[in-house]
Amino acid sequence: MADGDRTGAKSKRILVTGGSGLVGRAIEQVVKAGEGRPDEEWVFLSSKDADLTDAAETRALFDRYRPTHVVHLAAMVGGLFRNMKYNLDFWRKNMQINDNVLHSAHEHGVTKVVSCLSTCIFPDKTTYPIDETMIHNGPPHSSNFGYSYAKRMIDVQNRGYYEQHGCMFTAVIPTNVFGMYDNFNIEDGHVLPGLIHKTYLAQKNGTSLEVWGSGQPRRQFIYSLDLARLFIWVLREYKEIQPIILSVGEEDEVSIKEAAESIVAATGFKGEVIFDTSKSDGQYKKTASNSKLRKYLPDFKFTPFSQAIKETCDWFTANYEMARK
Ligand code: NAP
Ligand code: GDP
Repeated sequence: MADGDRTGAKSKRILVTGGSGLVGRAIEQVVKAGEGRPDEEWVFLSSKDADLTDAAETRALFDRYRPTHVVHLAAMVGGLFRNMKYNLDFWRKNMQINDNVLHSAHEHGVTKVVSCLSTCIFPDKTTYPIDETMIHNGPPHSSNFGYSYAKRMIDVQNRGYYEQHGCMFTAVIPTNVFGMYDNFNIEDGHVLPGLIHKTYLAQKNGTSLEVWGSGQPRRQFIYSLDLARLFIWVLREYKEIQPIILSVGEEDEVSIKEAAESIVAATGFKGEVIFDTSKSDGQYKKTASNSKLRKYLPDFKFTPFSQAIKETCDWFTANYEMARK
């Protein structure tokens, strides 16, 4: 870990909150694989470094590292079923974390902060495709209102810090993310890590694979390593306060049933696949436009979904003991 002094050629110290999670680990992997630059020092943090719901701990962390840049990922995160159970906690914890991080960044004169929103925060009743201008146009889906409203407030805060203090605080809006180091907990996690874990167990125990809900809802999934490369680009090049959607194209949206079929193909699962329609479907779809991203990066290549699923399934099997579950 770095101490408070920045010396030598490293003029940028980039603090990554939530550095031990799915997205943080992917950014770390991409930086270590050669995307990092000589003038950049990257510091990846977990909740062990500071509880960011605590204002004093957050300030002390910023005193210690004195970052020039912040990638703000830390959040209470979960899939549909965890969100439905803990809407109040999602609201309170994420509001606290975001307020502490953004205010400490302002107090410490941080040059740029990139925070992380999500396409699930957009209005439920909307026209499609959804774009960056529509965040505050109506209530989010009721299943995750706590998380959604807290995330929307980052956009409000970014605008406030810019208008009142001239801060370059912005945000990205990824769709559903998946990849290595995800939370594979079946009850709490998102659909892909949940289904990958369930397929692993069904294969091992010779049981059927249970997909929750009807399988009809549709999602755009982004591989964590693709998101990491885009995040680094936003940190270095993106100059707007208004957020940017980081997503595969609308044509790459898949149903939950198709996503389950990709996992079955990647793992070679031969058992029965059943749909438990007594479980919630959540939001039917949240189809997002990536045309703003495409204007900036027309040639960016996303990893094909089937390849990314295969890499994630293989990683989960190879790292079963240490994987978060
Ligand atoms: P994740 O794997 O659950 O990681 C969450 C990270 O936040 C971990 O590093 C965790 O630290 C840290 N954290 C949680 N509470 C904290 C606290 N009180 N103090 C300090 N650190 C804390 O989540 P993720 O999927 O990488 O999500 C990263 C960001 O992307 C979040 O802002 C999330 O809202 C956003 N996002 C995620 C998705 C998705 O599908 N996963 C989609 C859109 C947007 P520990 O490891 O120490 O617990
Ligand atoms: P969302 O995209 O924010 O709604 O969150 P999720 O990543 O949890 O995806 C929820 C969608 O996947 C809903 O339509 C669920 O019914 C469906 N789904 C199917 N099986 C599972 C599962 O094992 N876990 C989760 N979290 N969702 C599942």
